Amino acid sequence: MLDPFGPAAKELVREIGGVNELLMRIPSYVGIDKAMERVIWLKNGKLPSELLKLADLEDLMGFYALLGALAFSPYGLEMEIVKEANARIYTERISRYGISHSKISLPLTTFDEDEIPKKDRIILEKRLHEEISSEERKKLQLEYKMHIKDILLLWEDSLKEIYIKKGHGYLTERQMLRLWRKSFERNVERAVEILYEIRDELPQYYLRLYEKLSEFARDYFKERLERFGSAKAQPLRFDLFPPCIKAAIRGVPSGLRNYAITVLLTSFLSYARICPNPPRKDIRVKDCIKDLSVIEKEILPVIIEAGNRCTPPLFEDQPNEVKNIWYHLGFGFTDKPNIEDSGNTPWYFPPNCDKIRANAPQLCKPDRNCRNIKNPLTYYLRRLYLENKRSGEKNE
Ligand code: SF4
Repeated sequence: MLDPFGPAAKELVREIGGVNELLMRIPSYVGIDKAMERVIWLKNGKLPSELLKLADLEDLMGFYALLGALAFSPYGLEMEIVKEANARIYTERISRYGISHSKISLPLTTFDEDEIPKKDRIILEKRLHEEISSEERKKLQLEYKMHIKDILLLWEDSLKEIYIKKGHGYLTERQMLRLWRKSFERNVERAVEILYEIRDELPQYYLRLYEKLSEFARDYFKERLERFGSAKAQPLRFDLFPPCIKAAIRGVPSGLRNYAITVLLTSFLSYARICPNPPRKDIRVKDCIKDLSVIEKEILPVIIEAGNRCTPPLFEDQPNEVKNIWYHLGFGFTDKPNIEDSGNTPWYFPPNCDKIRANAPQLCKPDRNCRNIKNPLTYYLRRLYLENKRSGEKNE
């Protein structure tokens, strides 16, 4: 398979009966060690040739097995490992076997040789430079064409690097592969966002695979982890919160107060601080922390202050609302909980973006990081992940 998100792969998934059906079948076909083979080669950097020769279905199942595992920890180091290893597998295949427009997820279009004036080709492809080897010449060749609006969605550097004519960019193989990789990474994130929603329904196989991935990722990124930590429980980074949470923290008018503070802020802050990657939906606070000090010192004060910034102040108007906060944290309707009470009621998970938009449209003012995000918590996890990655790269 050339691209697990390309049209041919989508057709294969459809024939099987959809992504859910594919995920149910995978455990009977792909052993956990087999799925891990797609990533563990990163350790020595040598891509095994067998991985390049897998039949389409076998390849797709191995890749989706890893996506299913990522549902248990979107935007962790595990995702970085899966993206890196698989992007390299598919990039190598694309370079080796060439592009087939029907198999790749980039919206490439075909073009005639004479669309690019000869004099431009002479300059761009250095056609008069006889000293250039054929290999080098191939790298300079403009072989692919894409509409500029599609390029803009994926290209992160200066457009000066790209030859543009009549609303289209003409690309070398290296440029095309850069765009493809960006698109691949976004598709992985989009798929994991969707699978995150159904992680409770996935067979145990995926949790076991996630644990293996996690073990490998911690070893692979040992140095970085020692320096920067991971997206496990850690002090809250308010600067990375999504716009809806920042709006709730700033305080809201009376009609929105209970939803913004008690439902949204309480669930978001508690998961983000205590258990950013819950392995299952029925997790309790006491499964993640041993005493209530984190809640009392770091979470409740933010909630109370946000409530006080509402007009009129929420807790002055409705003092019993504090009990409701504990209720939403899973301790029952109380204002004097102890850790053993956790589990008396469900610990509310942050509502999805579509629910927030339906219940409190004023809170949702998406920024560019909200694209493809389905839940404010995954927004935060993604930004934490990108921050850690950036700091790691800068340091290296
Ligand atoms: S898209 Fe989602 S995360 Fe972004 S502001 Fe709206 S509700 Fe919040």
